[in-house]
Amino acid sequence: MNTEKNALVCGAGGFIGGHLVKKLKKEGFWVRGVDLKNPEFAPTAADDFIVGDLRDQTVVQNILDRPFDEVYQLAADMGGAGYIFTGDHDADVMHNSAQINLNMTYYGVKAKIKKIFYSSSACIYPEYNQMDPDNPKCSEDSAYPAAPDSEYGWEKLFSERLFLSFQRNYGLDVNIARFHNIFGPEGTWTGGKEKAPAAMCRKVAETLDGGEIEMWGDGKQTRSFLYIDECLEGIRRLMESEFSGPVNIGSEEMVTINQLAEIAMEIAGKKITVKHIPGPLGVRGRNSDNNLIGEKLNWKPSKPLKDGMVKTFQWIEKQVEDAK
Ligand code: NAD
Repeated sequence: MNTEKNALVCGAGGFIGGHLVKKLKKEGFWVRGVDLKNPEFAPTAADDFIVGDLRDQTVVQNILDRPFDEVYQLAADMGGAGYIFTGDHDADVMHNSAQINLNMTYYGVKAKIKKIFYSSSACIYPEYNQMDPDNPKCSEDSAYPAAPDSEYGWEKLFSERLFLSFQRNYGLDVNIARFHNIFGPEGTWTGGKEKAPAAMCRKVAETLDGGEIEMWGDGKQTRSFLYIDECLEGIRRLMESEFSGPVNIGSEEMVTINQLAEIAMEIAGKKITVKHIPGPLGVRGRNSDNNLIGEKLNWKPSKPLKDGMVKTFQWIEKQVEDAK
């Protein structure tokens, strides 16, 4: 008898999805990946990879051709501050991502999938709790009254509720995590959709010792960043648990963006001047609150930011060299 569990990863051509496929393969799953595109930086580890558009109902019906043991819904129209906070992509972000989630919940129930993971975001938290860079509030129960600072955050909040309503009304087994700035190798590092850790690593790698890099804003805004391996660990632990969430998966090591740049410089062994320029920023302060995850999963991320930055910098430095 074949006891191999099967998993479907939506967004398997993306950063977290690509890494998740590798992890599930190592754990012995049979994995199907779906995405608009193949993974950019490494061949997929999936047993079956379908290039398809999850906004399309026929595609979604076709990929859900069996009652998958586990489905991971990571596909979304997203990017860093340069993509989310300019306002130029609001309609696409809301429409594309909502349509994917509407299809996955509806056809997931029809296909009798056993369990589904949904990746929400720290961007759902109200802007009014994140004005003070030293004291942001991001406990799970502070999500309401809702006031996300971007349409991306509003769509995530809508989709959290969509998944939870399918749980209530149709018995769909749902697990929801709110990711806080996940980073690592094989993530977008250039082109406008990259996030702060990758952007800092790239700028520092491209600049000579004694040179200058540009940074959006005064660099005093705070964030925490979680290395990909701990994110995957959190996802898997949540899926194995009885707890549905939503729960934060993030680091509690809060730094300013200036400090993030300094970490990249220290790793590179370079002294570089930062020139602050106007640009899209997001909230003033944000940090993960890990009380709930600690309580429910008896685990929380604990690795230092610097460790993950070393691995990410080394990978981006190589991309910069290869691109020359
Ligand atoms: P990513 O952009 O690398 O991956 C998302 C993938 O979804 C992309 O490969 C994209 O091609 C695919 N996709 C988009 N529209 C699609 C469609 N219509 N059909 C099929 N595939 C489609 O992003 P990521 O960093 O890997 O993030 C994964 C998930 O986690 C997303 O839902 C994101 O919103 C969420 N999240 C990520 C972070 C983070 O810091 N990376 C933080 C919070 C939440």
